[in-house]
Amino acid sequence: MSNPPPSNLFYQTRLRRPVLARGEGVYLWDSAGRRYLDGSSGAMVSNIGHSNPAVLAAMRRQMDLSTFGYRLHFENEPAEALATRIAQRMPEGLDRVFFVSGGSEAVESCLKLARQYKLARGEGQRWKVISRFPSYHGSTLGALAVTGMSLMSAPFAPMLREMPKIPAPTCYLDRDGLSHEARGLRYARLLREEILAQGPETVLAFIMEPVGGASTGALVAPDSYYSEIRAICDEFGILLISDEVMSGAGRTGRYLAGEHWGLRPDIVALSKGFGAGYVPLGAMVADRLIAETVIDAGGFVHGHTYAGNPLACAAGLAVLDEIDRLDLIAAAARQGAALKGRLEGLMACYPFIGDVRGKGLLLAFELVADRETMEPLPTGLNAHLRLVDIAYEAGLIIYSRRTRGGRIGDHFLVCPPLIVSDSEIDEIMEKLDRALALFAA
Ligand code: PMP
Repeated sequence: MSNPPPSNLFYQTRLRRPVLARGEGVYLWDSAGRRYLDGSSGAMVSNIGHSNPAVLAAMRRQMDLSTFGYRLHFENEPAEALATRIAQRMPEGLDRVFFVSGGSEAVESCLKLARQYKLARGEGQRWKVISRFPSYHGSTLGALAVTGMSLMSAPFAPMLREMPKIPAPTCYLDRDGLSHEARGLRYARLLREEILAQGPETVLAFIMEPVGGASTGALVAPDSYYSEIRAICDEFGILLISDEVMSGAGRTGRYLAGEHWGLRPDIVALSKGFGAGYVPLGAMVADRLIAETVIDAGGFVHGHTYAGNPLACAAGLAVLDEIDRLDLIAAAARQGAALKGRLEGLMACYPFIGDVRGKGLLLAFELVADRETMEPLPTGLNAHLRLVDIAYEAGLIIYSRRTRGGRIGDHFLVCPPLIVSDSEIDEIMEKLDRALALFAA
């Protein structure tokens, strides 16, 4: 927008966007009445669409009763009920739920619980959390320490205790003649090498996104990767933390993305799709034994003021009800397969689309200079910003990143709400096609 009005809001950059007026279903309208198809569910948040009447009604009911009671003063029924609901769907034994208000807080909670568990077991020398590069686990300093995105962490380098990183399994970029599954094993075994290099007795945990999010653009590893990672963690007594902040709540066509591979983490971070854009909500879900050990050793040293507030939890319960009532996990699998097929179809028209990937409705495509070598587009082209702006003008919101310092270039997440209909998928494709044609021109 040209000449935006002066504002006291700290917008972080000079980029200004139209003012949001309202939302309904997969659509958002700005204050000038322009309609946008929310093709990225915000930042992969609004899984059940905007202005869901059942969730709004549940929030109103809760608002009439109470919106806040401090967790050290009161327990509350919505938090208790939501914890039960979440625990019922988790892998066996992961049934202790600690609520927070977002993804970074959920990741912080996982890291701090892991550390306190090992301390309680007399293994205080374990503090290193190995993660992957690229990866994104949040913007707070603890979550940043395990985030593999130098652009996000570089300014804070002196303030961070930088944690060891291994390459994410970007198998689709490799031209090494190995089978897909052999590549998965090769990437998993980098964890083993890193543990040995660090000294296994100093390593606390490994954290990963089972299906990548913003950092890698819906990166899916070969099946072999997941079981090998679990086996390596077990071999060295290292906790496996699964960051399902973006991939959880049905987005990949399963309740948790890790279910595609029968992954059994020790601690899980949840957020985005659980509050679904209605309330700030996140959770850490821990193995019962880990949580109990920490409580027995004196309690979990952690907490956020708004943790488990009744309004957020009542909304979260209603979101899960809607996911079930509308069968949205199956819808994510079905509509995701359809949308992925359509995105793959674009590759025939646009040679600069190098890859289409993802699971369910956590989908992405990547633009490259050369599909054979997968060489990224020149940085100066700023493709990740340009294409998003062109699509925005066409009334389609998509989400993009460019990973600097890694091998992944410009990638675009196409992740509409799980309620997306066939005709809305047609509209996404028509708008995206138009945007790509303009981008190519
Ligand atoms: N982990 C992952 C995988 C994420 O995608 C995000 C947010 N993009 C976070 C953590 C941080 O969540 P929040 O922005 O809610 O703090």
